[in-house]
Amino acid sequence: MTTVSPAMPDAAGFFGQYGGQYVPEPLKPILDTLAQAFETYRNDPEFLREFNYYLKHFSGRETPVYLCSNLTKALGGAKIYLKREDLNHLGAHKVNNTIGQILLAKRMGKKKIIAETGAGQHGVATAATAALMGMECTIYMGAVDVERQKLNVFRMQMMGAKVVAAQSGQKTLKEAVDEALGAWVQDAEETFYLLGSAVGPHPYPAIVREFQSVVGREAKRQMREAEGRLPDYCVACVGGGSNAIGLFADFIDEPGVKLVGVEPSGRGLEYGQHAATLCLGEPGVMHGFRSYMLKDPQGEPAEVYSISAGLDYPSVGPEHAFLKDAGRAEYVHASDAEAMDAFFMLSRMEGIIPALESSHALAHAIRLAPTLGRESIILVNLSGRGDKDVAQVESMVTEGTVVPPAMLKR
Ligand SMILES: *Cc1c(COP(=O)(O)O)cnc(C)c1O
Repeated sequence: MTTVSPAMPDAAGFFGQYGGQYVPEPLKPILDTLAQAFETYRNDPEFLREFNYYLKHFSGRETPVYLCSNLTKALGGAKIYLKREDLNHLGAHKVNNTIGQILLAKRMGKKKIIAETGAGQHGVATAATAALMGMECTIYMGAVDVERQKLNVFRMQMMGAKVVAAQSGQKTLKEAVDEALGAWVQDAEETFYLLGSAVGPHPYPAIVREFQSVVGREAKRQMREAEGRLPDYCVACVGGGSNAIGLFADFIDEPGVKLVGVEPSGRGLEYGQHAATLCLGEPGVMHGFRSYMLKDPQGEPAEVYSISAGLDYPSVGPEHAFLKDAGRAEYVHASDAEAMDAFFMLSRMEGIIPALESSHALAHAIRLAPTLGRESIILVNLSGRGDKDVAQVESMVTEGTVVPPAMLKR
């Protein structure tokens, strides 16, 4: 196995050949200032004290690990544990990162937070954390997404955020990113750009990994307490890759623990029907960094699709690209249908409704468990709760596009 250095990324922001800063000149000094501030505060005891305070008192950490006894028994193989990130305030892991970045923004003397959001989950976490910290907050969202995600827009507004609808191009996430970056360059003195996943130009992938790594640190200790040893597998879904790298980070140097990222294969492996970037993509540059990406015939970012809005991104965090090439982590895919089955199965058997994103990780664990002995342990990162997805699933069931498994019928 290739050794994976804990000192990564290197000074230029590369994980092997992935990462870096592929951005317009005016952005470079702004990113460098951010990288310096991050280096200053990441090990600062007072900063960490404050970070841990809000993780505990605002978000409710630590989150437990939970043994799915019913599911384990039904599958007849490895024990399945969940890391319960769904129990965080706002219902997902995203708040770990927004707390960390807004505290960093305050240390840097910034007054305003800007962020982009697609489905709205990152926008809501950002708006909530900005309200907590008394920061002015503007969320950029494609006009099409504003229409599709009215409730999330209202949530953000309730917590004091201004939501700007991006009107250019396709009016979705890409345009929201363009407008947010434009606003940042205009007012970098006062403004902090809060990025929501382990993607983007250096130093963002390193920052997001650092603030999410609390997930794996807790889980490692909790698994030792529960089982007296580490799990055989750590499994997480991969959109941009933040919940996965958060779980993996503290296990990378544990060669006995297999790391598995699960990407969405949507309706199938044909072009436009999935977002399985590491499984089916190739190296390339987009959104300011080099990683695996899905390309269209012109080499531009591909159209992507997944049943879960949080996973349909045509690139992926650069550290995952590195871990794949190094053979340290394995990346597999799960389809819409497999994720839906997992969604219903966990709800019915354990009384926990998982996010559709997390259901992809669970789907892989459900495939894997019966192939392993009863002494084996799989730890799944349950990145979020499914309440946000219930209306979508209900209308799919009503339309007949999704048929719930027979066990749901009494
Ligand atoms: C946003 C989101 C994801 C995908 O983002 P990552 O950066 O890949 O973790 C996964 N699960 C949930 C619940 C989310 O809200």
